[in-house]
Amino acid sequence: MTSVVMEEIPDRVSLAVDISNCRGNCVGCHSPFLKQDVGEELTAEIIDRLVADNFGVNCFLFLGEGQDPQAILFLAAHVRELGLDVALYSGREEVEDEFWEAFDYLKLGPYRPECGPLNKRTTNQRLYHHGKDITERFWKR
Ligand code: SF4
Repeated sequence: MTSVVMEEIPDRVSLAVDISNCRGNCVGCHSPFLKQDVGEELTAEIIDRLVADNFGVNCFLFLGEGQDPQAILFLAAHVRELGLDVALYSGREEVEDEFWEAFDYLKLGPYRPECGPLNKRTTNQRLYHHGKDITERFWKR
């Protein structure tokens, strides 16, 4: 599923795409269908089409990273070649150095219902911009 979203990444108009095959195991997972191998394989050509069809977006947001790190890193590099920022919502606590380099925005941490999402001060999740924790941007609203 794709959608254009304003609030997930601060100051960006993001084209958000659900990525299936999630390797996470969050208690209270909000999207259990994403744990399965569903939907169409995302390719560079599909990204080109999505970006062309959504004029004005300046960030491409991967909602999940699947189970093929090289594939998602390849697609992230492709997004950068298009001149867009690239963001990843990962359910993992930590990611490899290549991910820090490949993505302008990284959201880390599994979803824990008792802690709440990013806009709750009690959240365990963090959003980083080029390695800087900007989670508090969500708390001023
Ligand atoms: S990261 Fe967690 S909440 Fe998101 S789809 Fe995977 S298991 Fe569910």
